[in-house]
Amino acid sequence: MPQYADIVLPLAQPAYTFAISEGMEVHIGDAVAVQFGKNSVYTGIVWRLHDTPPKRGTAKPIIKVLYDKPLLSEVQIRFWEWIAEYYISTIGEVMRIALPSTIKPKARCEEEFEPYTPKRERVVRLIEEALSADVLEKMARRAPKRSAAVEALRARGGEAPRHEVALEATALNALCKAGVVEIFERDLMPHQTERNTLLPTLSEAQNRALNEIRQGFTTHNVTLLYGVTSSGKTEIYTHLIEEQLSQGRDVLFLVPEISLTTQLVERLRNLFGECVVAYHSKFSPKQRTKIYTDMLAGEGGNFIVGARSALFLPYKRLGLVIVDEEHDASYKQSEPNPRYNGRDTAIMLASLHGGKSLLGSATPSIESFSNHLSGKYAYVKLMERYGGVEMPRIVISDTIRNVKRNERKLHFNKELLDAIEERLTRKEQVILFQNRRGYTPYLECPQCGYSARCPHCNVSLSVHQQRNRAVCHYCGYNEPITSHCPNCRTVEMKPMGFGTERVEEALQEVFPKARILRLDGDTATSNSAYSRIIGAFARKEADILVGTQIIAKGLDFGSVTLIGILNGDNLLAAPDFRAEERALQLLLQVAGRCGRREEQGEVIIQSADPKHRIYSFINNYEAGLNTMLTERQRYSYPPYVRLLRITLRDNDVKRLVEVATLLGDALRRRFGRRVLGPVSPLIDRIRREHRIEILLKIENSASFAKARAIVREEITALRSQPSAKRTTIICDVDLC
Ligand code: ADP
Ligand code: ZN
Repeated sequence: MPQYADIVLPLAQPAYTFAISEGMEVHIGDAVAVQFGKNSVYTGIVWRLHDTPPKRGTAKPIIKVLYDKPLLSEVQIRFWEWIAEYYISTIGEVMRIALPSTIKPKARCEEEFEPYTPKRERVVRLIEEALSADVLEKMARRAPKRSAAVEALRARGGEAPRHEVALEATALNALCKAGVVEIFERDLMPHQTERNTLLPTLSEAQNRALNEIRQGFTTHNVTLLYGVTSSGKTEIYTHLIEEQLSQGRDVLFLVPEISLTTQLVERLRNLFGECVVAYHSKFSPKQRTKIYTDMLAGEGGNFIVGARSALFLPYKRLGLVIVDEEHDASYKQSEPNPRYNGRDTAIMLASLHGGKSLLGSATPSIESFSNHLSGKYAYVKLMERYGGVEMPRIVISDTIRNVKRNERKLHFNKELLDAIEERLTRKEQVILFQNRRGYTPYLECPQCGYSARCPHCNVSLSVHQQRNRAVCHYCGYNEPITSHCPNCRTVEMKPMGFGTERVEEALQEVFPKARILRLDGDTATSNSAYSRIIGAFARKEADILVGTQIIAKGLDFGSVTLIGILNGDNLLAAPDFRAEERALQLLLQVAGRCGRREEQGEVIIQSADPKHRIYSFINNYEAGLNTMLTERQRYSYPPYVRLLRITLRDNDVKRLVEVATLLGDALRRRFGRRVLGPVSPLIDRIRREHRIEILLKIENSASFAKARAIVREEITALRSQPSAKRTTIICDVDLC
């Protein structure tokens, strides 16, 4: 046995060397308890075994090895290393997010340290030798209940879990004393459930797509499926999933958001039964640990449906990863480190296992589309909706013309009002989309221009009428709404713009009889609240659903025949090179929520700029992507360059500027004109912390690995200077 082990702790620190005591057996990937700092016993992961004593001091001994198997496989170790390196993070930070807390306990001292113990099961077993004909006959006469229980046990091959034996404790104990049965404990076996899969029969077009995907995988590790909304991508996936499971391989089905897993898991359980396992970070640490350890003990062949944290489960042989809605920005972890992209990381994980990745979307990301153009990904198109349903008719409604003709009422153009009216009479359902929650974005004084701002963040407060408060959407700070300007004190404040809450109110005013539901960050505060609203609308307990982007994702309502987008131009307003791509994707996704059964749906988009090219891309998505790609190339944006953003945060503005300048200068010496900044971001203060950003653009022809190494080096050098110690420095690779 080597003498030392380098151990990763769940901290933003390098691995530390600990000593292996005589007789202790330690493997790479083992979870161990170690003392770190004065008052902490941590769970660490053994990363490397060697015989080199530490340069300074003596190595503390490992206290104990925690579980009977390593927690991490070799593939997982390489996976964590890749994430830490690529996203300029540390393996300890990966550990922090990858393992549920119950499996990696921390305590103040050894005595309080409690590793996870899998639930044990009590088992009753017959002692055959004791069961003479004589004994059995006697029992049948005197104790028919016991006799029946013994017969039942024999029928089950001589043993059964305690809770399935129909006997009182006293009776069972008596049998035990008589030497007829024994009771013992064993680890709860992960239950292997039978699969009795009945897959949906695919349409001709779906079958063609399925075969093309299979074909794609013979030459590529990644296939991109561009299938329009309601084309039945999920049904196609199920066939690929079944193929993998029947060969004993694991399958991971990723969705961008936790709220989407519940519906999907239900749908998949109807096909695959109980073998579908949901996993995401909102599960309790105990539940997550149970799934983790079950998979560790099992033989593979798991079917996991989850959000990005499911990437860290201990797969044995991952045959296929499906990344549904692959374009979705929610795949990117925004906080904390590692700030990884679940889609890209999934592709890496699959390839480490020698498995395949299928990216699916009705609106593929520009990155994935470009990977198809360059031949890196195989590409499959499915352009018809299932059941011959037509794509919705798109109408761009000119807001300015409506205003001129005096036909706009509150926030609604005449075309939209007429269309809603029509659906209400026909008892069909309507969805209205507005990308702002709250009542109105903010109140402004028409006299002096004053608007209430958050004292902690540099943003204006949004008005929430129902709560009667002005709220900060960044930190939650809120205050009473002031109707008079506190600055010039004379006039009424004027609402600027409108959010979902105000839409709901206005709508009720125009259609007093309509039943309206609202789905946004204020009403869908939990998974159950979300499900309640969705459920009510699906049961047709409401005529109109007003919502933010939440409604754009994955919902499937049969009787929605009209969608209104209240302000299409709004979507383009973000000062971001991706604004147009995002807007187009959102428009198409929202539009895809309607006319999903027989009836052709209608989408009305209100716009003050109806000639904007984005509206012409709605019926030709690929042309839109191609146009945008040309511009990305011309102005050097992804996918033609890699973007790496360094954010510096500090409560002290002066210090922050100094540190940022130092780092900016250092980076400029290495990267020259590839460095942009330091600059103040649009929102330069959040929760009292000031922010400055430095952006790095690395062209595709340069080595990105080398660039990351230099960034790491310069940040480490900067951190060693006392003046920079208090500033938080965060790297975001492949910024989304
Ligand atoms: P997408 O994910 O591409 O938007 P879905 O998988 O949600 O599409 O399918 C849209 C609807 O059509 C769903 O209600 C689904 O059950 C139904 N559907 C699609 N394909 C089939 C099929 N082969 N057999 C039965 N129903 C199907
Ligand atoms: Zn705030």
